[in-house]
Order: sequence, then structure tokens, then C-alpha cells
Amino acid sequence: MPLSESLHSVEMEFRCSVCGLGFVRPGRWFKSAAQHRCSGCHQITYLTYPKKLALFDRYAKQTKGSVAKDEEARTPPPLQ
Ligand SMILES: [Zn+2]
Repeated sequence: MPLSESLHSVEMEFRCSVCGLGFVRPGRWFKSAAQHRCSGCHQITYLTYPKKLALFDRYAKQTKGSVAKDEEARTPPPLQ
């Protein structure tokens, strides 16, 4: 399922292919966005469908794996 709606509220990081600066937007932003101007090098990146697909795919896998991890990592902070 491409560009899954379950990822609309997931914050995704896309990295500029020129300078590597990352920017974070929720999934729904990527779904409707056509291009993004990098705040570092001012290069316009065209957010083509294959790029969106790759991004969504990456986060679809990450969110599946991270849910269980978050549960495990939920330990109380040490007392001081
Ligand atoms: Zn850049």
C-alpha cells in the first residue's frame, strides 16, 4: 500500500541530496508537497512519487520495529 495514511502523522526526515541537511515534516506534508527548498543550500528538491514512496516505505518499516522497542525502553529514570 503506497503512501499509507497511517503514516500521515509520522514525522519524517528527508535529506537534501546536495548538502545533506535534513528537514522534518509529517507524512501528510510529503504526500501533498511537490518540491522543497533546502534551508541550507537553497537547492530545490523535487519530491517525485518514487522519492515519496521510498520515504514512506522506510518509515513504514521503522514504525513497525520501533513500537516494540519503545515498550522495552520504557524504564523509569534512575533515582538520585
Ligand atoms: Zn541542501
